[in-house]
Amino acid sequence: MLAFYRNLAKLTRTASKLAGKKGTDLPGKVLRKVNDNVLTKLASDFDEIVFVTGTNGKTTTSNLIGHTLRSAGENFINNFEGANMLDGIISTFAIQGRNNTKLAIIEIDEGSIKRVMKYITPTKFVINNFFRDQIDRFGEIDTLIATIGEQLEGKQIQLILNSDDPFVTRLSKYGEDNIYFGIAKEAYQFSDFGISESKFCPNCGMELIYDHVHYSQLGFYHCSKCDFEHQSVKYEVTKATVEPFINMSINNGEVIETKLAGDYNIYNLLAAYSLLKELGLSEDKIKKGLGTYTPTNGRMQSISFANGSTVLLNLAKNPAGLNASLAIANSIKEEINYLLVLNDNGADGIDISWIWDTDFDILLGQNINNIVCSGKRAKELALRLKYCGVNANVVVNEAIPEAVAKLKSYNEKYAIAIPNYTALVETQRELEK
Ligand SMILES: [Zn+2]
Repeated sequence: MLAFYRNLAKLTRTASKLAGKKGTDLPGKVLRKVNDNVLTKLASDFDEIVFVTGTNGKTTTSNLIGHTLRSAGENFINNFEGANMLDGIISTFAIQGRNNTKLAIIEIDEGSIKRVMKYITPTKFVINNFFRDQIDRFGEIDTLIATIGEQLEGKQIQLILNSDDPFVTRLSKYGEDNIYFGIAKEAYQFSDFGISESKFCPNCGMELIYDHVHYSQLGFYHCSKCDFEHQSVKYEVTKATVEPFINMSINNGEVIETKLAGDYNIYNLLAAYSLLKELGLSEDKIKKGLGTYTPTNGRMQSISFANGSTVLLNLAKNPAGLNASLAIANSIKEEINYLLVLNDNGADGIDISWIWDTDFDILLGQNINNIVCSGKRAKELALRLKYCGVNANVVVNEAIPEAVAKLKSYNEKYAIAIPNYTALVETQRELEK
């Protein structure tokens, strides 16, 4: 029966691709029509199923893990195309699974956990962060976390948690033999992202007291009334530099030199490292894998132009993500340009007022020559920039191909391109031309 499902999935994927689609979700959808429990069947022979989630960075973390395991020659499956909901996950098991494959690394959308866990239970679950995101779809963050807790309860899952995020550590009580990771207080000074999530104790509702804040709600905290607090960590970043690529040391070990920019990627690298260590991979193999990973999915992707300029492309779809993307240039000393692309299609959330919650003042300290605003809401972006008083030449061009052509006409060594969700594919295609 497994062979039947796998063949059907491959046929469906081929048909889907011929129709010009990505072919990541349709096979899962078709298999579910044949048998609602198909995922349970497909996953039954696996020894280790790892889920990776978090509002920001789950794709990067999952891809870092996948790239490292691949470069180490391991046999595993991984939904590296970012198909992180039920149908995409079914497709991954059906298309990549072989009779001797025992390990699955599955990136999972926070809002799909309940639906997927109806059919499979992970052995390990990496949870990196929870930020305000796509509120239209998920409702309040507390509801989301409570729902995830209900799914984890009593299932003996080993949780691998970011101890620096109180939203994440509140899930501790639902796991078994939990492992924690975090960043030491003195290891790295994050840019001030200026966002404050509500910081209240999940047990008693009293205010959390912070001894140290890395950014947003991430840091060292304890409850002012009960015993809820930052957990002691097994894997700790003890030193990190970002210029603009990350070099970091974990538990005072040898420096890992990476090709990833953006300091919040320190957490993604650390989460990947922690999981890979728990899977038993050697330090050398981990170091090689993490050090050679280059994104191709518009998350901190480095693209070179014919004139020698380098653009760092990074998707941002909420204030925390956009703040982080804008902060990348803090580590670049040369003059730079920006391309900001904002659409308001259904998948973006039609309400784009979150750009007003973003800390554009970060730009005031940067050496910027030109900012090109594009996408359906380019004008609102330009208005937001005008409001913050940024000192740069601001150009508005709603059509993405023309906006990218404009960016390519400049000669500065570095540019940062930040599209939102539905603007990503077109922006990436034009940049890579
Ligand atoms: Zn408390």
